[in-house]
Amino acid sequence: MTAAPATTATILIIEDEEALLLAMAHHLRREGYGVLTAARGDDGLRLAREREPDAIVLDLMLPGVDGMGVCRALRRDSRVPIIMVTALGGEGDRIVGLDAGADDYLPKPFGMRELLARVRALLRRAPARTAEPPAEDMLRSGDLEVNAARREVRRGGALVRMKPREFELLLFLLRNPGQVLSREHILESVWEHDFHGDARTVDVHVRWLRQKIEANAASPERIRTVRGSGYLFEG
Ligand code: CA
Repeated sequence: MTAAPATTATILIIEDEEALLLAMAHHLRREGYGVLTAARGDDGLRLAREREPDAIVLDLMLPGVDGMGVCRALRRDSRVPIIMVTALGGEGDRIVGLDAGADDYLPKPFGMRELLARVRALLRRAPARTAEPPAEDMLRSGDLEVNAARREVRRGGALVRMKPREFELLLFLLRNPGQVLSREHILESVWEHDFHGDARTVDVHVRWLRQKIEANAASPERIRTVRGSGYLFEG
């Protein structure tokens, strides 16, 4: 088994003309792309949402939901690069396609080299999703920067080593700033059900965490102790 390169992008093709769909899929695969296909607009829309491709080649005239409908539906919550292809090809259609939120427009008939060039250009222009994780995976607070996906913590740009549970605790605090969090709540959320300890475990981990993220652990400004209640992350 050959492992695909980590940078391989996945392209979703939504096209009801079978011969064209197969030709596009073949050429994109040969370039090393992962390829998903759909012959109907509604199926394509579902695939786009389930599989989150890196780019979409979208036919205008489709059964189910047409290309415009697919494009508009996707644009409500996605910035995935879209190339609209169509047999119509007039200036008016081009503008309508771009209005619906497509990034590029390719009139039929087109050559496969043209398609590949457009896809490459589109992926180059698109924000590199592998380089920058989704916003919810990056958490920032002052000089603290946490990459949840890579489990990486930086303080003032410098990598901070964390034990797994310290990291989980920090993540939980970052996601719940400005709230008083009881030790029991923290214990349940961070340790889940695999731990039968008591609340003092939380205190110990908070102490360790403070040594790593506070300017002065003896006088913490980030993780405050709320007497009798728990902790509060200033955020
Ligand atoms: Ca069509």
